[in-house]
Amino acid sequence: MKITNIETFLLKVPLGADRFYSSQCSFPERKSLLIKVTTNSGLTGWGESGQYGPGEPPAAFVNHVLKPLLIGKNPLDTTVLWDLMYSSIRDFGRKATGIEAISGIDIALWDIAGKYYKKPIADLLGGMFRNKIRAYATGCYYRGKDVLDYKASLPALKNEAKSYVDAGFSALKVKIGLLRIEEDIERVNVIREAIGKDALLMIDCNHAYNVHSARKIGRILEQFNVFWLEEPVVPEDLMGYAELKRTLDIAIAAGENEYTRFGFLELFKNQCLDIVQPNLGCAGGFTEVKRIEALSSAFHVQMIPHCWGSGVALAASLHLCASLMPLQFTAFPKAPLNEPMIEYDKNINPLRDYLLKQNFQLDGEFLKVPEGPGLGIEIDENVLIKYMVNY
Ligand SMILES: [Mg+2]
Repeated sequence: MKITNIETFLLKVPLGADRFYSSQCSFPERKSLLIKVTTNSGLTGWGESGQYGPGEPPAAFVNHVLKPLLIGKNPLDTTVLWDLMYSSIRDFGRKATGIEAISGIDIALWDIAGKYYKKPIADLLGGMFRNKIRAYATGCYYRGKDVLDYKASLPALKNEAKSYVDAGFSALKVKIGLLRIEEDIERVNVIREAIGKDALLMIDCNHAYNVHSARKIGRILEQFNVFWLEEPVVPEDLMGYAELKRTLDIAIAAGENEYTRFGFLELFKNQCLDIVQPNLGCAGGFTEVKRIEALSSAFHVQMIPHCWGSGVALAASLHLCASLMPLQFTAFPKAPLNEPMIEYDKNINPLRDYLLKQNFQLDGEFLKVPEGPGLGIEIDENVLIKYMVNY
């Protein structure tokens, strides 16, 4: 079997008045960069590259740098091809855009492998420890009016937080970092009251703070029984992470802005994290994230992957989560907190909800791992065409 073509599809959905904000940026649109790998056997594979910045740069990496390397190669040689791609871009692409491009291709290659061997990707990764994954809701972002008058939006925030519990979730991740600390704490207080004291609450700062401010807000958040504090400081500040992990009584999580086993090794060596969150479409795809998992287990750091993107990214993350080794830190290995969770972004995103022919349905608070070969998904070409943009 030989690779005959690699195509990129940039999809964008303008949000108009539904735009939302994190501490770092606004989201005026939802977008995804999909990768399609075609072979001479008739088998094709889909992947998704990168999920934070614009899609055009990783698309250029795929089309101009990586595609010429892979045409004519055997798509089943996933490790060989990963090494070929990485060693070819080492001098100019060791992090971010270059690795995002590799990630999307790698996911597509595993999709082809699954279809070739007639197995779900999770089975090819060594088997499923679990065939359904506990989902946590990601929501309660800022709306535009929060910045002008956050108090006026507290009732809507309360309703949104409660809606996730009503939908069956018992774990919720929310944003802080855009407002003054006192104002963000007031938002967290409203959310905690809305979801009740037993629900898991995770707080994502998107690296809004310096160490001093992060420690200050972390001490306050300890009183709200927060499970993890995500990206309290910038990804480069390894000493800051280590300091917060040592001093706060709250799990420190990060990893969505780190790339390859070489990047993650630094986080582990410097004892920065309690929970590591690689994103499959950014950190290196299945081939590399399974290596990062091996590192994380050797350093006894829990892996709960980050996921942000279309239904393709969500399906891929479900296969990864199915394959992750459970922690055995307690006498009860199936204790919920020893198991990985899947991040289920609940912000508006038609690319998550309508791009695949099979919709994701919550089963209680779990998402099922797709059962078919490869990723186990089918792209709805009508939806693909509807949201495709020229670039
Ligand atoms: Mg985050």
